[in-house]
Amino acid sequence: MTATTFFDLLERLTSLMRIWNRQHPLLAELQPIQVSALIYLSRCNRYSNTPLAVTEYLGLTKGTVSQSLKALEAKGLIEKSQDQRDRRSVHLELTALARELLASVAPPQFLSAALEQMGERAQDLEALFGDLLRQIQRSEDVPGFGLCRTCRFHQQRDGAPFCGLTQEPLRQPDVELICREYQVA
Ligand code: SF4
Repeated sequence: MTATTFFDLLERLTSLMRIWNRQHPLLAELQPIQVSALIYLSRCNRYSNTPLAVTEYLGLTKGTVSQSLKALEAKGLIEKSQDQRDRRSVHLELTALARELLASVAPPQFLSAALEQMGERAQDLEALFGDLLRQIQRSEDVPGFGLCRTCRFHQQRDGAPFCGLTQEPLRQPDVELICREYQVA
């Protein structure tokens, strides 16, 4: 496949996501960036739920993300909490209302249905997309964000997941989350 064809496919899929966002009745009150921030916060780990990490992940300006986070807080969808060790640092948590909202809208139904129809080929597609992302992360200077279980620092200690970078134990569900400190294995 040529890069142009692949780029066209990605663009089309992205615009379908935007349409989904705009037309979904439960998302009518939220701007696409606010939905993206909520989805990211539902998928990231405890090292990655800061305003700066949201800004880096979305690739937008600090001001734009800051306004969106304020709007989400005002709507009762996120809450701030102070870091236990560094009191200057703030973490963002989804509220129960936000978790309920995301559970009923994400992933988009049209995407789930299409992947189901693809059967086993959907697994291949996931692996190939993962390879593509890692290839880009290896060769370009882009923020690291990636899945914990595929990170080069990911270890097992005493039968439980462990982060070799922070030297802290991880909970089992953490291994399926996105981390800002991720590095390609
Ligand atoms: S193992 Fe890697 S991805 Fe997982 S928490 Fe540590 S730095 Fe983050």
